[in-house]
Order: sequence, then C-alpha cells, then structure tokens
Amino acid sequence: MVDLVAERVRTSRLLGADSDLVLHGGGNTSVKVRHTTVYGEEIEALVVKGSGSDLADIDQSGFAWLDLAAVRRLAQLDALSDVEMANQLRLAEVRANGPAPSVEAILHALIPAPFVDHTHADAVVTLTNTPAGAALVAEVYGARVAVVPYVMPGFLLAKHCAGVPLVGVDGMVLLNHGIFTWGETAQESYERMLELVGLAAAHVAAHRRPHEGAVTLQHARLGPEFRAALSAAAGVPMIVSTSGEMDVRAFRASHDAARVTQRGTATPDHVIRTKPWPLIDCDIDAYVARYRAYFERHAGGRRLQALDPAPRVVLTDAGLSCAGRTAKDARIAEDIYRHTMRVITDAEDLGGYQPVSEAELFEVEYWDLEQAKLRRQPPPAPFAGEIALVTGAASGIGRACAAALLAEGAALIGVDCNPEITAAFDDLAWLGLECDVTDLNAVRGALDLALERFGGLDLLVLNAGVFPGGARIAELDQDAWRRVMAVNLDANLALLRAAHPLLKVAPNGGRVVVIGSKNVPAPGPGAAAYSASKAALTQLARVAALEWGGDGIRVNVIHPNAVFDTRVWSDEVLAERAAQYGLTVDAYRASNVLGVEVASEDVARLCVAMCGPAFAKTTGAQVPVDGGNDRVI
Ligand code: ZN
Repeated sequence: MVDLVAERVRTSRLLGADSDLVLHGGGNTSVKVRHTTVYGEEIEALVVKGSGSDLADIDQSGFAWLDLAAVRRLAQLDALSDVEMANQLRLAEVRANGPAPSVEAILHALIPAPFVDHTHADAVVTLTNTPAGAALVAEVYGARVAVVPYVMPGFLLAKHCAGVPLVGVDGMVLLNHGIFTWGETAQESYERMLELVGLAAAHVAAHRRPHEGAVTLQHARLGPEFRAALSAAAGVPMIVSTSGEMDVRAFRASHDAARVTQRGTATPDHVIRTKPWPLIDCDIDAYVARYRAYFERHAGGRRLQALDPAPRVVLTDAGLSCAGRTAKDARIAEDIYRHTMRVITDAEDLGGYQPVSEAELFEVEYWDLEQAKLRRQPPPAPFAGEIALVTGAASGIGRACAAALLAEGAALIGVDCNPEITAAFDDLAWLGLECDVTDLNAVRGALDLALERFGGLDLLVLNAGVFPGGARIAELDQDAWRRVMAVNLDANLALLRAAHPLLKVAPNGGRVVVIGSKNVPAPGPGAAAYSASKAALTQLARVAALEWGGDGIRVNVIHPNAVFDTRVWSDEVLAERAAQYGLTVDAYRASNVLGVEVASEDVARLCVAMCGPAFAKTTGAQVPVDGGNDRVI
C-alpha cells in the first residue's frame, strides 16, 4: 500500500525546492487519510502542513493530523475569529504532539480531493496583481479553474471558498494571493500545479517587454551610518545586507521603481518579512513617519502592538539592502524582494502592478494570529543584530571566540591566513575570509565585505598572533623580531584604525577585545619578541580605551596563559617552554595556582562577557585567564 503521508512529504518538498512557487514558509499542502481512533473507529483525517515549517525541507513531523469532519464543520459557522479558529483547529487534532495546523486548514478540508497543494507562485501573483487580473485568469485558464477575489486568509477566506463550486475544475486561483490544485494522487496534484503555473508563466513571458535603458547606473556604497540610523529606528541592532548586482541597480534606477514599489507586496503574507513597502534611497526618518501614520490610520481604536517602524527592504544606488534581526531574516527579505522585483516588472508589462490595498496589507501585518506570535516570542540572543570580526579565527582561541559569539547571535567575519577559514562554520551569519592581517589592503577589503554583507561592525576581537620558537636576546634574529612585531602589533594598529569609523557608530557602542598574554605582566626568558609585542599591543589597547571612550567604544584586554589547544603551541614549543621552567610537559600544562588546564573555550567565555553587559561600564581593563599565576597575582 502506498504510504500517502510519505507521498505528501515527497511532492511537498518538490514544490518547496522551486523558489518561483514557494518562498520561505509560504504555501501549504495536505492529504486526507483513514485514521483509526483509540476506540477502533475509522475516521477521515486531514494531514496538513503545520505553521512554522518550510515545504523545502518538511518531513512528517511538519504535518498536523486533524479530524476532517470536525474541521469541515467549522466552515458551517457564520463567524469565527481567527484566534478561535486556531484554537478549534488545535482541538481537532488527533495527534496531540503535532505542530499548530496551517491557517488555511479549513480550506484544505473543503476541497473534495485527497491531495491539495497551495502555492504563491510568482506567475500567478503576477497575473492577478493587475487591473485586469480576473480577465487574464479567464483568458489563460478558461473554465479550468475557479476564481476567488481577494479575501483575507483565515476563516473569512475558508468561509468564502465554501460557497465556490469546485467539482469539475482542476484548481482555484485566489486573486492577489496564489493558487490551489488538487488530485487523486500527490503526483497528479503536483503536476497540475506545474501545468497551471506554467500556463500563467507562458502568458507573462509572452507579454514581457524589453526594458532598455536610458538608465544611468550609479556606483554607490552604504556607509555604516546607514545601518546605525536603521537600527535606531528599529530600537535594536539590525543586520543590513546589500547586493549590488547590475539587474538590481537597474531596477532601482528605472524611472518607475520609486512609484510602483510603494503599492504593496506581491502576496499579502510577505508583509511580515518586508513591511508594506521598501524604502527608496536613504531617508529613514521619512519612512518611520510614513509607517507610523500608516499604523495610526489603520489601527483605528484597536489595541494593537505596533511593530518597529524600520524598513526591511531598501533600494538605493548601491542596490538592494535588506534588514533583519539576524542574517537569516535579512536573507529571507532579500529572497522575497528579488522575486517581488520580477513580479512588479512583469505585472507592469501586463497593464500595471496592482496588489491588494494598503488597508488589506495592514490587516495581514497586524493579524490577531501574528500579534499572538509576538507575545510568545522567545527573548532574542544577546548579540542579535550585532556584527563581530575575529582575527586568526580558523583555530584555537580565535575560532573559539568566533564560535561563542556566533552561538550568542552575532554575525561573524572571521579572517585568517589559513584557507580553511572560509568553511570554518556552516552558517548564513558566517563570512570566513582568507586574509593576511599584515596586508592593509586585505584588511580594508575584509571591512568592506563586513559592510556589504552585514552593514557595519560592533565587536572586534584582535586575536591573530605568532609565537616564534624561543630565542635568547643575544641570539635574537632581527628579521624574526620584525616579523613578530608586524603580526602582533603593527597589523592590530592598522585594523584598529580602519575599524574605528565603523565601531564608533555601532548601535550599542563598539567593543574591542584584545587577546594579550600572561607574558605582559610576567614575561618569560627566551620570549623577548613575543612578550614585547604583546606588551606594546596592551599599551596600544589602553591608549585606544582612553581615546575612544568618548565614542562609546570599550577596549579591554584578556591575558591568557598556557592555552595549549592552539596553533601557537606546537609540541615543539610546548616541550621547549616546559624545559625553560624545568618542568615536564604535563606538569607545565597545569602549572598554575588552581592546578587546572586552560582551554580556548575558557578565553572565549571571557571574550563574550567583555562584549556583554557584565563589562558595560569597564574599559581599559586587563583580565587574566590563566588558572592563577603566582607571578601575576
Ligand atoms: Zn496562501
């Protein structure tokens, strides 16, 4: 026997894999199956996508199981709030550990076929976001589909569709919203979706006009002040990611973009991710004023929790910039807007881009169910929206600091001369760059990429350093000395200088953590170059703390000792340093007051603390992580 739910998963993923059909959590699917209750009764169950999962990678756990008869019965009610609908759908579940069912579950229940697919396909929303949308649908599909005018998703839409005859048609087009198809098998429903969307796409393509340009493309760049202003509008630090490809800049530069983009989103639920309209150019204050007025206008007397008024999509001469609390949120807004630009361009060629009204968008943005989600939101990660740069991040202390800051919600630029840096972490919030910190141009390039990819810089961890083999001063080679100074001192001065304009506009104040060394307060024989370089670096950090305090930038120093899980400590260096103190390697490892081994993670934990609230009022401090050293104490 065919496993109907496995089939449901299979074609759901096929739909999810095509971004022209479904984007980030959009769309939903279902199947109706037989279910035996605990009393041995056979009932029909609706297995429908839960909210919060993504069709692209959904599995069986992403579906809710409901009593089909109970769901259908809801459609007989004259009225039902969406909050109560969500409650009733929960109560109708026959598997209590399932996810909350899709808000379109009732609609799925009403469609008289086992398998039902729903997408917000670009081609269909293009066709229907036009003044002649209904006529275009009739022209493309004839009598093959039922057509439903725009109705707010949820109970009202389900109620409306309950009155639409669906027998004898292959699908249902929801104007300004999307399309449903269905079938006896998962494959049949999926193929109908492809076929019907394909017909719309062919119509759109046939009416596409060449857009040549009297367009002058500017080469611009957004400075860190832009993210600072956007974060101030949001009230929290935000990631701002910019893509400056030619087609994006051409769209921005086209004479109509400034006007047409302001009409609304391609499908209503995009409003949650992109806000109702993008900001054109950089006047954030004007956007905030407009958003607040929009809220006042449509909230009326209702007690709604206003969302922050910062834009999520910005079109400037630099290209498309998208904002979010995390790199992932910014990417989702970007993916949605890339599709929206295509939809707008094509809809303009079909007679004009005309999405749902502002009032209807507001109802979706401030939907009861969305407001309820806000109240359930977990607290944000400590460094959400902030951006860190860590040098020497491919291994040891640098890697541990990068991992810890990533885990606490920061976006991370890791630089290292080791090429493994690029793949050190698999995370949208990670940008690993192979970079020699002594090459000033390469360092500037890394900061430019930080600006482009994330919008600015909040946290700087100066960790990259070298520890040459031990040499007494009498035998110390001048070139080796210079090399140590170049990496451990000069490179950090250059990076501090280049990072200052970014750090001083960091929304929560810039923070610099310098990885010093126990050798600063307690130098060892045979380590002149290393000890002198770290002492000079510490002095540099202290002066930076003095000079930059007025800019709200805190600069603190960690003095680790004997952190042996790093590249600096090769077996050779370890044996040599142990011998220097007349100890075995094992005794040397734990030769501190507490008798403990110190690991990279221990240093990373202090680095995170120094960037956080515990050190909010501390700058210029030097804190050891060394298990207690009697020469330091
Ligand atoms: Zn939908």
